[in-house]
Amino acid sequence: PSPAPARMDLDGNPVAPLTICMIGAGGFIGSHLCEKLMAETAHVVLAVDVYCDKIRHLVDPAPPHLAGRISFHRLNIKNDSRLEGLIKMADLTINLAAICTPADYNTRPLDTIYSNFIDALPVVKYCSENNKRLIHFSTCEVYGKTVGSFLPKDHPLRKEPEFYVLKEDESPCIFGPIVKQRWSYACAKQLIERLIFAEGAENGLEFTIVRPFNWIGPRMDFIPGVDGPSEGVPRVLACFSNNLLRREPLKLVDGGQSQRTFVYIKDAIEAVILMIENPGRANGHIFNVGNPNNEVTVRELAQMMTEVYANVSGEAPLDEPMIDVSSSQFYGEGYDDSDKRIPDMTIINKQLGWNPKTPLKDLLETTLTYQHKTYKEAVKRQMLQASAS
Ligand code: NAD
Ligand code: UDP
Repeated sequence: PSPAPARMDLDGNPVAPLTICMIGAGGFIGSHLCEKLMAETAHVVLAVDVYCDKIRHLVDPAPPHLAGRISFHRLNIKNDSRLEGLIKMADLTINLAAICTPADYNTRPLDTIYSNFIDALPVVKYCSENNKRLIHFSTCEVYGKTVGSFLPKDHPLRKEPEFYVLKEDESPCIFGPIVKQRWSYACAKQLIERLIFAEGAENGLEFTIVRPFNWIGPRMDFIPGVDGPSEGVPRVLACFSNNLLRREPLKLVDGGQSQRTFVYIKDAIEAVILMIENPGRANGHIFNVGNPNNEVTVRELAQMMTEVYANVSGEAPLDEPMIDVSSSQFYGEGYDDSDKRIPDMTIINKQLGWNPKTPLKDLLETTLTYQHKTYKEAVKRQMLQASAS
């Protein structure tokens, strides 16, 4: 095959091929980023993770046309001395590794804090000491609750953007009390952001921090009992997909009134590629990456997914497609929630000219078509086995 055409950065200069150490490359975001880098660029990826199921098609073994372009390094960054060597071999490190499913934040708070703060420390340190660029994945959850959420329910100020739009360089980080262990994740992510920022300010670390706002699409999380534990609770897309595949009602936590903006994974990956290839525009910045036009309540998301799934599967929806559950029943004690998440897009627009494209309806069609095709038969088999035993 012919080599990939030369790539240009946003200022019209050619982009030299990079070696990228991608930690957490076997996860949802990592798998899409690896695919995109392999398909459209000449960059080399050192893919680090404890498992590779989602990138098996790229690494086990690498197809001939990708020889020398991607290698898989099975290691746990908690305790593996090979990590520093890999960071040294690379021009750029991207850290995606984390425990990042809300069901874990209040039930495994220690693992959550260690994973999101302590385990990320050596990555930051090795990048800083070896003068390597770092793109670190944080979360929109560092914003916590909106200022407006503390006003009375029908207060007119709740409608004013300054009371809910989340801005990287202005909005405060507002978490609940310590007994609400939900915030263990956000707090750990906030502290690692502050540490990275301080490494930049005091030691000149070249960094970019990404705050994803509910990126969703194929390969997100797992379907319980099929490619993950039967009792596991993934993020909302996979929870609702699982319910639809099993023809059970979708569970709305605490009334499903929380609001989210969902962005299609493929749109979001374009933003990450721009960061990779435009260091001069991305270094030193924190970027919201989301789609402010795709806002729904969780209840509306459940309605849309029910309708879209009926279309793609040809199965009529249930008479009662949704049921209410309390958060303590669903997640256990210590759960709490972000009320609303609208990303301000000024900084990413100005620095990288990036805008999300895909409307929610379209991304749900693509994603639920994938879920149906990938999982329907496996779910049927698993349900038959469970009822026979
Ligand atoms: P994911 O769970 O699919 O991917 C994380 C990957 O990191 C997994 O493959 C996991 O095996 C790996 N990993 C975890 N600990 C490791 C360790 N000690 N050593 C080696 N590998 C390890 O999650 P994702 O959705 O791809 O998220 C990636 C990053 O983006 C995370 O930092 C997450 O906090 C952040 N994020 C994602 C979203 C989203 O919408 N998907 C939203 C907010 C933040
Ligand atoms: N949620 C729900 N039912 C489910 C799973 C999640 O109502 O089966 C809600 C959850 O309480 C939250 C929202 O959906 O308000 C999004 O949850 P997710 O786990 O995707 O992560 P978050 O956006 O909170 O980080």
